[in-house]
Amino acid sequence: MGILVQKFGGTSLSTPEAREHVIRHIQRELDHQQQLVVVVSAMGRKGEPYATDTLLQWAADNGNSLPARERDLLLCCGEIISASTLCSLLGSEGISSTVLTGAQAGFITDDQFGNARIVDVRPDRVLEELKSHQVVIVTGFQGQSESGDFTTLGRGGSDTSATALGAALKADVVDIYTDVDGILTADPRIVEDAKPLRVVSYAEICNMAYHGAKVIHPRAVEIAMQARVPVRVRSTFSEGEGTLVTHPEGFRDVQTGILDRFVTGIAHVGGVTQITVESESGTDNLQLKVFKTMAEHGISVDFINVTPSGAVYTVFDSDADKAVTVLEQQGLVPKALSGCAKVSVIGGGINGVPGIMAQIVESLTNAGVQILQSADSNTTIWVLVRKEDMVQALRALHAKFELHR
Ligand code: ADP
Ligand code: MG
Repeated sequence: MGILVQKFGGTSLSTPEAREHVIRHIQRELDHQQQLVVVVSAMGRKGEPYATDTLLQWAADNGNSLPARERDLLLCCGEIISASTLCSLLGSEGISSTVLTGAQAGFITDDQFGNARIVDVRPDRVLEELKSHQVVIVTGFQGQSESGDFTTLGRGGSDTSATALGAALKADVVDIYTDVDGILTADPRIVEDAKPLRVVSYAEICNMAYHGAKVIHPRAVEIAMQARVPVRVRSTFSEGEGTLVTHPEGFRDVQTGILDRFVTGIAHVGGVTQITVESESGTDNLQLKVFKTMAEHGISVDFINVTPSGAVYTVFDSDADKAVTVLEQQGLVPKALSGCAKVSVIGGGINGVPGIMAQIVESLTNAGVQILQSADSNTTIWVLVRKEDMVQALRALHAKFELHR
C-alpha cells in the first residue's frame, strides 16, 4: 500500500465549511486504501485567530522583545492548534488519527530560528503510527534543532514540510491543497482569465515560484525534484485534479500537447525599489563598492545590470532606506525609485526565440506601461515596471502570449 501525503494550507482550514472539504478529501483517499499522512498549516490568514501572522502580531503587541528562539516556540502553536482541531474533527467522523509535531515526525533542522533549514527527516515515528491510525497528522512549518529546540522553516514552510516528508517516506505523491484550482498561468487574483496548467515540470514551476508565483514554495519544489516525488497542486474546494508537477518524462502519462508550449506563465513580485548608482569622476571600483556594501549589510539584491558607468539593481522596499543610507556613507550618490514591481514571462520554450523581446515591448507599450529595466535568461524574461502599472502589464502579457487559451 502506497503512502500519500496531503498538505492543507491556511485558507483550506480557516472555516468550518473549509474543514468539511478537508475531511472529504481525506475520506476519499482512505476509501482508495491509501496510507495517509496529512501536513497542516496554521488556520487562516492575517487577522484570523490562530494564523501565523496573527501570532507574530501578538508578539509585537506584547512587549515586542521576544527572542528568536521563543518566537519560534510561539509560532509552532499555530500548526499545533490546526492539527489538534483536525484530529478532533476526524474522530467525530469515525476516522482515527494522531498528531505528531515537526520534531516527533523527525524533522531535524539547523538552529537558524525563523528560517531554519532541514538537515534530515527521520520519519520512523510516522511509519510506526501509521500501523495503528488511519491518518497521521503532522504539523507543518516546524522542526527541531539538534539541541532540541523548536524551530520554524520560514515562509512557505508547510509546503517544504510536505515535500520533505513525502521524499523521506518515498510517498507515491504529495498533494498540496490550496484555494485555487492548481498552478495557473498567472495569479488568478490579478489576471481573471488565468488558466490552470494540467502538468508542469519541476523546473518550470520552480522558476515561476522563484519569480513570485506564491502558490507553492520553490524550496518545496526543489526537494520534490531531487527525490523525484510527483506533486499535485489542487483545490480544497473542488474535485478537480489540479496541476501535476513532475519530470518531463512524467508528462507522457498526461494527454496534452503542452511539451511544445512556448510561455508557461507570468509571475510577479511587488514591493521592490530600483537603485541606480552612477559613477562620478574619481570613483574607483564603483560596482565593487556597491555590491560589497550591500552584502556587508545583509541586503539582498536582484535584477542587477552593471555598465561601465554604474550599476542598477533592485532591493525590497523594506530594505531601500537602509540601502541608500549605507551607500551614501560610502560617498556614493544613489537614486532610489520605490514602489516598483518585477514582472516575469516564464517558459522553457522562449530560449532563443527571435523577436520575443520585441513582442513584450510592443504589448507593454500598447498598454501604456513603461519598462524601467529588463533582463533575460534561457527560460525567463523580466521587466521592471511601476507598481501602478503592474496589473496592466500582467494582463497585457498574458493576453499577448494567449495564455487564456
Ligand atoms: P495556502 O494557504 O494554501 O498555502 P497560498 O496563499 O500560499 O495558499 O497560495 C495560494 C495563492 O497563490 C492563490 O490564492 C493565488 O492567489 C496565489 N498565486 C499566485 N500565483 C499563482 C499561480 N500562478 N497559480 C495559482 N495561484 C497563484
Ligand atoms: Mg502557501
